[in-house]
Parts: sequence; structure tokens; C-alpha cells
Amino acid sequence: MVNLEFNVEACKSCGFCVKVCPKQVLSIGEHINKKGYRYAQSDNPEECIGCKMCAAMCPDAVIEIWK
Ligand code: SF4
Ligand code: SF4
Repeated sequence: MVNLEFNVEACKSCGFCVKVCPKQVLSIGEHINKKGYRYAQSDNPEECIGCKMCAAMCPDAVIEIWK
């Protein structure tokens, strides 16, 4: 299983990670961080293949992935 961790306070809700994920693991959730942005979350982490595309695309280094 791949572990995904989000530094949610750094997320700016751009949605790049959601668009780039080949397995539709991620979405922008309903909760809001301290800066007022709805932040990214993983809906079905069991589908994650650990490709790290989301982390590579994120302009704010929000996502960490390890196995
Ligand atoms: S590592 Fe790849 S499969 Fe996993 S959430 Fe990120 S983009 Fe999707
Ligand atoms: S790419 Fe980064 S900043 Fe943009 S929504 Fe995803 S986690 Fe948030």
C-alpha cells in the first residue's frame, strides 16, 4: 500500500494533482484550511500506484508519497 500525506495548510486548491492522477485517487474536499482554500485529499488511496505525478505537479509541495 502506498502512503499519501498532505500538508493541507500549504494547499491552494489549484486541482493540478486531481487532474494529473491516472487512477482518479484525489479530489478537492469540502474542508477548508487556515488560508481559506479547500484542500486536496485522497478518496481511494488503495488505487494509488505510487507514480508520484501528483507530487511532481503540485506547485506547493503539499503531497508526500512513500511505500
Ligand atoms: S502517486 Fe500517482 S496514482 Fe498515486 S495519487 Fe499521486 S498521481 Fe495518483
Ligand atoms: S496540486 Fe498541490 S496545491 Fe494544487 S490542489 Fe493539489 S495538493 Fe493542492
